[in-house]
Amino acid sequence: MPATATQILERVFGYARFRGQQQAVIDHAIAGGDSLVLMPTGGGKSLCYQIPALMRGGAAVVVSPLIALMRDQVAALLQAGVRAAYLNSTLSYGEVLDVEARLRAGSIDLLYAAPERLLGERTLALLDEVDVALFAIDEAHCVSQWGHDFRPEYLQLAVLRDRFPGIPRMALTATADETTRREIAERLGLAGARWFISGFDRPNIQYRVAPKSTPRDQLARILDTEHRGDAGIVYCLSRRSVDETAEWLRGRGVDALAYHAGMNAREREAHQDRFVRGEGVVMVATIAFGMGIDKPNVRFVAHLNLPKSLEAYYQETGRAGRDGLPATAWMAYGLQDVITLRQMVDGSEAGAERKRLEIRKLDGMLGYCELTTCRRQALLAYFGETLADPCGNCDNCLDPPESWDATEAARKALSCVYRTGQRFGAGYVVDVLRGKDDERMRRFGHHRLPTFGAGDDLDARQWRSVVRQLVARGLLSVDIDGFGSLRLTAAAAGVLRGDAIVELRRDARPARASRKRRAAAGAASGPPGLFDALRARRLELAQSQGVPPYVIFHDATLAAMAEVQPQTLDEMATLSGVGAKKLERYGEIFLRVIREHGVDTAPGADVADAAR
Ligand code: ADP
Ligand code: ZN
Repeated sequence: MPATATQILERVFGYARFRGQQQAVIDHAIAGGDSLVLMPTGGGKSLCYQIPALMRGGAAVVVSPLIALMRDQVAALLQAGVRAAYLNSTLSYGEVLDVEARLRAGSIDLLYAAPERLLGERTLALLDEVDVALFAIDEAHCVSQWGHDFRPEYLQLAVLRDRFPGIPRMALTATADETTRREIAERLGLAGARWFISGFDRPNIQYRVAPKSTPRDQLARILDTEHRGDAGIVYCLSRRSVDETAEWLRGRGVDALAYHAGMNAREREAHQDRFVRGEGVVMVATIAFGMGIDKPNVRFVAHLNLPKSLEAYYQETGRAGRDGLPATAWMAYGLQDVITLRQMVDGSEAGAERKRLEIRKLDGMLGYCELTTCRRQALLAYFGETLADPCGNCDNCLDPPESWDATEAARKALSCVYRTGQRFGAGYVVDVLRGKDDERMRRFGHHRLPTFGAGDDLDARQWRSVVRQLVARGLLSVDIDGFGSLRLTAAAAGVLRGDAIVELRRDARPARASRKRRAAAGAASGPPGLFDALRARRLELAQSQGVPPYVIFHDATLAAMAEVQPQTLDEMATLSGVGAKKLERYGEIFLRVIREHGVDTAPGADVADAAR
């Protein structure tokens, strides 16, 4: 009797249950239907086509946009004992012939290919000769011109429908927005396909935003207290800040690497490789980094600058915690970020319409930063989803911010901007409010203004926070061509007249560490040091085979080993992520680590050693 989908899930992948819509998608594909699968990052899209590939006759063809992604996916499948291969430009001619021969012989279940390779006449002719189980089009949003990852080759994939009628096709993406979804269905000729849409919430990611004071120190504190030894990504806006931040982190003993468009391709590839294949590497990068990074145990994503839109923010932070274990998305932001991004939009070649759209997106981002309510509710609402209750896992839920009646302060600030002629930036306006008596002040005669020194009830940090929030709320605008001069907007009139009340968020003091923070993921369970010992063994095994560590076992599986401490292969087999093949290959090796660790750390072990 042929195996059921659930049996394959258990035997091959070592998982007990399907997640979300996986089973429905799989059943639909096995029955021969086309589908469009929308699942968040880490939702488990790959199994949706990998399991039908093992159940339908012939080979499933998977279209994947990036060579590194293909290589790592195939490596992971081979570890699980699945007959997988790829066709791309990194293969020698001999290797290509070998893959082709295995395909003809029916000894490949999953074939990965880049679109341009797949659509070449040679490959199409090859597929005419063999049984194709299904076509899976991964990262299907690459077909959309509006998206950020547009790949013209993807447009040609529509030919698969005509050339291979009757073979089910499945398009998969984590892109949340409606326009892109429609474009995918249209351009891939998937009009009759069934849509499987999952919620886009990533409950294991803790979203946090901090007002920027000394961003590197703020980051360092998080690395020290919550993410020591963890892999993570730090996003910066400029190449220079990427290089400097990576350097600075290395100086503090963090294994940090840089990644940006100014480096040559070989260097970038080497760094990406170290990040994927190593343990605990921190990548400091511009947004150029991340697409196609499948690493499941990225424990934090930090933004030292404001992203351009909530779409970009959600995608970048979504690279954390694919394995479902706790992860952190932390961002530091300040008024200067707003000014810089506005300047970038304004200085770009884009048309007026596009610029307006970009400014609107930036404003959406700012609104998110200044929220006093649940961040996840706001994020999901932005993507058209409703989360009924506050999440309990964002900074605003964990440590509700105080707000204060800032009407008086707002009036002082607005009036100060007005009286100094709407020609100065935030720094100077704060100096006037605080009554800083210096040469420049006297030169402009501002030391005689009624607002001069009218704000000595708040310190400079608090005043900067007021100004920033007035900008975020559209009461002040920032002049982008000059020096970030502040101007009043039409909305400011109501506040100045005293018709409107202004409630502002009280920024937490940077040093305040009252948040209920979780312990580092994975390492939390089991006896001290065991998780690390398992991780070290995994790294050795991975390095000797030239594969990323996570294709051997996920962190979640190692954490389960540390907690349960199986003593036999049968016990080991019950853990999530331990399939038959991996049990056979690695079961004994990891059992030994567990046993030896038990001996080394058992009470009196040192005495026993000394007696030996
Ligand atoms: P996506 O491509 O949607 O980002 P993946 O297919 O890479 O997600 O899956 C994310 C992680 O979840 C993978 O490590 C995968 O092994 C794991 N996973 C997928 N399905 C299940 C399941 N049913 N049970 C447990 N883990 C799963
Ligand atoms: Zn929340």
